[in-house]
Amino acid sequence: MPSSPRTKLRIVASVLLGPGFWDAVAGRFLLQPVPRDGGPPSPAGEASAWRDLRGALHIHSTYSDGAGDIPTVMAAAAEAGVDFVLLADHNTQRPLRDGWEAKYAAKPLLLIGTEVTVDKGAFLLALDMPPDWEPVKYEPPQVAVDAVNAEGGLPLVSLPFDVKHPWLDWNVRGYEGLEVINLSTIARRHVNAPSMLWLVPIYRTKGALAALRALVTRPDRELALWDRLTGGDGGQPMVGICALDAHALMKIGKKKYPIPSYADSFRAATTHVLLPPEEPASSDRRAIYDALRAGRCYMAYDCVGDPTGFDFRAAGGGSTATMGECLTPGGDEVHFSARVDGDGSRVLLRLFRDGRIVAAGDRGRLAFTTDVPGAYRVEAYLYARRVGPLVLGARPWVFSNPIYVRGEKMRAPGEENATQNGN
Ligand SMILES: [Zn+2]
Repeated sequence: MPSSPRTKLRIVASVLLGPGFWDAVAGRFLLQPVPRDGGPPSPAGEASAWRDLRGALHIHSTYSDGAGDIPTVMAAAAEAGVDFVLLADHNTQRPLRDGWEAKYAAKPLLLIGTEVTVDKGAFLLALDMPPDWEPVKYEPPQVAVDAVNAEGGLPLVSLPFDVKHPWLDWNVRGYEGLEVINLSTIARRHVNAPSMLWLVPIYRTKGALAALRALVTRPDRELALWDRLTGGDGGQPMVGICALDAHALMKIGKKKYPIPSYADSFRAATTHVLLPPEEPASSDRRAIYDALRAGRCYMAYDCVGDPTGFDFRAAGGGSTATMGECLTPGGDEVHFSARVDGDGSRVLLRLFRDGRIVAAGDRGRLAFTTDVPGAYRVEAYLYARRVGPLVLGARPWVFSNPIYVRGEKMRAPGEENATQNGN
């Protein structure tokens, strides 16, 4: 489908002005007054009991416009060490009917869905669908979402604010989540006049993964939207995923280049799903879809560091919750804790409620007690140095899914008497 004049104008402005480049520069400096020491030794208590599986989501093969066939994609997944791949070729579930899932039933596991083109060239992921289902192209987005729900599938909005293929109709209802991170969107925002001066030398001397690491940014618009959808009075639980949209091809001008490779994309960013420890490996495919539906997952730029073991939980009113879950403490206080596994010495954690920072913790751990309802989520940053409240050389690293605190007895935001008891 040809781009509209408005889209062409947006692409030209993005290339010449390089907003993504300036975001990346600005995002390396954070202001966050937080004590360096003095918190409790380990607010998260015992280690998480969940199994943490790393997934490369939204991958294209030669079944649509990807550069590699499924064996090539899966060999790259094995090379990069990911636990599973979620294939989403354009407008077809043919690879599912051709029996490819059965050929990759152990690590790396293969799951197959599709990416549906809706009206005006926007995209919807249709996951966990029956094999004989085939999508209809160019339907109104609401019709496409309803069609996925009618089959019991998982509809997720793809590329929400992409410069080329943005989702345009936010009145649509019934989708269960969105791509908060899409690596193609991030790459498109960064392939521009100012950033090429900086990215090309990095790519030439250090390779594609280093170039990807240089351009990781906080997806500000996607996060703001997600916070609006999940927070406040009308907020609904909604899963956020990190999609690679990997084709192993990049179009610059009229030419196509085989970068980044599948393996480099898989090493750059993933969605980590949390599976129950007792689940036998043979049913992992089902358990992965269940975790995605439940929002029991977090997004990570793995090229910044290995986040496996990242933990975010809440306790209150006699029950506990992890990412994606809802806690109803019945008037009690809620205790949040988050931490990264391993060396957290240069890790800043920020806790957001409905999009507003309510607490922060240094050294990779955070604890917070509150009696205010809302959608709470954590962002982790790996930084180079701290000078007082100024955090220098910060790279966004981990974005959790929210824990939802609901309850009528609790106070409304603004009347809070919260205490930050960790740092
Ligand atoms: Zn795609």
